Amino acid sequence: MSELTITNALVFDGVSEQLTETSLYLRDGVIAEIDPRVTRAERVVDAAGRTVLPGLIDAHFHAYGVSLDSLAIETSPLSYLALAGARRLRRALARGFTTVRDVAGGDAGLARAVADGLIPSPRYLHTGPALSQTGGHGDARSPEQTGLCLHGSHMCEVVDGVENLRVAVRERFRQGAHAIKLMTSGGVISPADPIRPPQYTPEEVAAVTAEATRRGSYVAAHAYSPEAVRHSVLNGVRSIEHGNLLDEPTAALMAEHGAFLVPTLATYDAMRRRGAEVGLPDFARAKNQEVLDAGQRAVALAHAAGVPVGFGTDLMGALENDQLAGLRLQTEAAGVLACLRSATSVNARLLGRDDLGRVAVGARADLLLLDGDPFADPSVLWDERRPRQVVQAGEPVAGTG
Ligand SMILES: [Zn+2]
Repeated sequence: MSELTITNALVFDGVSEQLTETSLYLRDGVIAEIDPRVTRAERVVDAAGRTVLPGLIDAHFHAYGVSLDSLAIETSPLSYLALAGARRLRRALARGFTTVRDVAGGDAGLARAVADGLIPSPRYLHTGPALSQTGGHGDARSPEQTGLCLHGSHMCEVVDGVENLRVAVRERFRQGAHAIKLMTSGGVISPADPIRPPQYTPEEVAAVTAEATRRGSYVAAHAYSPEAVRHSVLNGVRSIEHGNLLDEPTAALMAEHGAFLVPTLATYDAMRRRGAEVGLPDFARAKNQEVLDAGQRAVALAHAAGVPVGFGTDLMGALENDQLAGLRLQTEAAGVLACLRSATSVNARLLGRDDLGRVAVGARADLLLLDGDPFADPSVLWDERRPRQVVQAGEPVAGTG
């Protein structure tokens, strides 16, 4: 039996506006008791008034996103991507992310390595390679490239047609996918598609969502424009990724259908500030500008319409260390309470995991200790110079504290 007591903590439970002064008794990876009087375990961490939050969840992460050049990723050996991905996962954990949802890439081998504890990593839920139509966001070929086949690639796979998509979805679930990722509009770093027009036919999207739903899972779709979001939601998609160009009627439609928005504000801000440093091509910088300014407005619109808003980052290559900046940008858009809920309890609901994203008896003992009260000083959430301590499955694992 492993036990740990954290005393003198100011707890954000994942939902409530008020911090609670209490102690936590963690046993066998679960929060077993929450009571200011508990002193049960032999091992005690005195939080000394630090804030304890549920471990953060990044619902849009890419372990294999080791470059901003999609083709370079798809043509890399998987062994290289796995090792580079392991480093990305370890760093995410040290920042306080105890769960990530990888929505393009990951495979049964990486998931098993994480589950077996071979590498320090957040809990790892993956979709396997995202599905893209030919010439869609997941098609990494430039318009001049011919004779290069991208079937069976690492982050994205080009699959067209209802029957082929059904097989691809079943294959992903066979290999342990948490959900399915579909590209239903253009994107910033794909070379051959405009951002706005919807991708895939309604029949193709509906076939994918029907397969996933029958399996008890769901579909996450990359979509920027209102027309692409509508196209996705009306055909059964539950998780809208990015959604930067969202408008009011489309936000209302999402709320009506119970669809989540997973904004990824960190990535556009990072590409704007650091695009030159990381060699972002000109076409991508122009496309980035188109969605950057709208991103924070989309978050506010979605909240106002009653859409559950999660949290993701989508950082590729060297931009990965901007992960915590996502919390700053989402706090600017929606306030600190909404941002904290997004990165904890709302994301947990998105994942269908009521044992995550909460500080509650019976929840997983994945926690983040911060050196200050985020409601009084939100910068403690993203300022990496301030010490932070991460607890995973009831054990102090990483952090800078
Ligand atoms: Zn992404």
